[in-house]
Amino acid sequence: MTYYTFQDSSSRVRIGKIICLARTYKEHAREMNTVVTEDPLLFLKPTSSVIFDHETIIIPKRSQCLHHEVELGIILGKKGKHISEENARQYILGYLVALDITARDIQAVAKKNGWPWAIAKGFDTFAPISDAVTKEKVPHPQNLNLMLRINGVVKQCGNTDQMMYSVERIISFISEIMTLERGDLILTGTPEGVGEIKEGDVLEAQLDSVCSLTVDVKHEQ
Ligand code: MG
Repeated sequence: MTYYTFQDSSSRVRIGKIICLARTYKEHAREMNTVVTEDPLLFLKPTSSVIFDHETIIIPKRSQCLHHEVELGIILGKKGKHISEENARQYILGYLVALDITARDIQAVAKKNGWPWAIAKGFDTFAPISDAVTKEKVPHPQNLNLMLRINGVVKQCGNTDQMMYSVERIISFISEIMTLERGDLILTGTPEGVGEIKEGDVLEAQLDSVCSLTVDVKHEQ
């Protein structure tokens, strides 16, 4: 079992299902030659893809091209189904910064053929997450700077105020489909600037001044 580490709490919370949004930011949708949809587009990552601060992303032998996507992560604090937007904030336990690592070459083939993204998104180490903070530390989740540096150079820089769906809408929408449970993690999509990562790169992700994450990259042995 895998548990979150909280900066400001000793509560032991198991990492549940990981629900990810695609195309949340208009400029990222544009750079992928696609459009933002009326309802959020969802996919899942397995819990086995999680790694933590100062661990290593492994480039699998099946892919020649991994991309970084820096994202705000929302941790659910309690079970809910058909959650209204008005009540959605009550279900949040905390936040973190995450990387949605994507095998872009595998995803491109999947997109062309109408296949699922499970392989492109689901390899081990494809969900690096930072230590979390409780929601009390983040009074304005819809106004957070998201930044990713590679080897000290800024590659992605956005703000959650550019998201096309609010945090409340996202929680409400997902809960119409699947029961949300304590420990579930929602990755809310990436701003523009995604690009390739290579062996030896050091990635530093930052969510405002509240969360940070450093990981490096190696080839599968
Ligand atoms: Mg993503």
